[in-house]
Amino acid sequence: MNSDRRPLVVGNWKMHGSVAFARELAHAVASGAAKVSAVDIVICPPHLLLRAAAAELAGGDVGLGAQTVSEFRHGAYTGETSAAMLAEAGCRFVIVGHSERRHLFGDSNTAVAAKAIAVTDAGLVPIICVGETHDERHRGATNAVIAAQLSAVMEAEGGPAVFNNAVIAYEPVWAIGTGETATPAQAEAVHEFIRSTIAATDPVVAEATRILYGGSVKPDNAADLFRMMNIDGGLIGGASLNAEDFLRICVSVPRA
Ligand code: PEP
Repeated sequence: MNSDRRPLVVGNWKMHGSVAFARELAHAVASGAAKVSAVDIVICPPHLLLRAAAAELAGGDVGLGAQTVSEFRHGAYTGETSAAMLAEAGCRFVIVGHSERRHLFGDSNTAVAAKAIAVTDAGLVPIICVGETHDERHRGATNAVIAAQLSAVMEAEGGPAVFNNAVIAYEPVWAIGTGETATPAQAEAVHEFIRSTIAATDPVVAEATRILYGGSVKPDNAADLFRMMNIDGGLIGGASLNAEDFLRICVSVPRA
């Protein structure tokens, strides 16, 4: 972790919970977070639970995010939710390109770029997920996969501006929800690659960009990951559904 970048820990609740669960968990995170300084904390409930969570977070420092968004602004797109609607529901962040969206719902690099641009245009912060599959890593294609995922955003019309206010999450697909975690050295190597890829376009933006690690982060492995120079926090799935575990991860962030 580099002390010039403020650490960020984001909880991705995925499709779990109910209104009652969201109220209870958001309340517990907000109460615990009041004692955690020097780290930004964001929770991302499912769309229909955003308002319940927002009510619990009101007036506090924990941010609210959504897990996906439409690439379109408005129109005949049945079932979709626009970035402007998410902003009205209280979101400041939106995850785009999560591997479950890419692999289960067919979100292509082009669609992820369009979503990141839609989020930015609505005044929100995109959390752009990138990462390789097990097979891609074993073929030595990790950097090429990530370069393609990043360049789809950079090369889209309106894409370069996205990086002025984006968060990147490196999430090796083989580590998401599997209990298998990248070693700190493996993760750091990819984070360094991501930063250098952004730096090729804009070194100042690259230095300021927060790059999170995600993939089976737990209270007992978070500190070792967060100690690495280019890891600026985490995107947490399973462990974010338990307030105590999530807050233990938040306090694992080394102090500047
Ligand atoms: C995720 O969903 O982004 C994630 C990293 O999940 P988990 O922490 O459960 O591996």
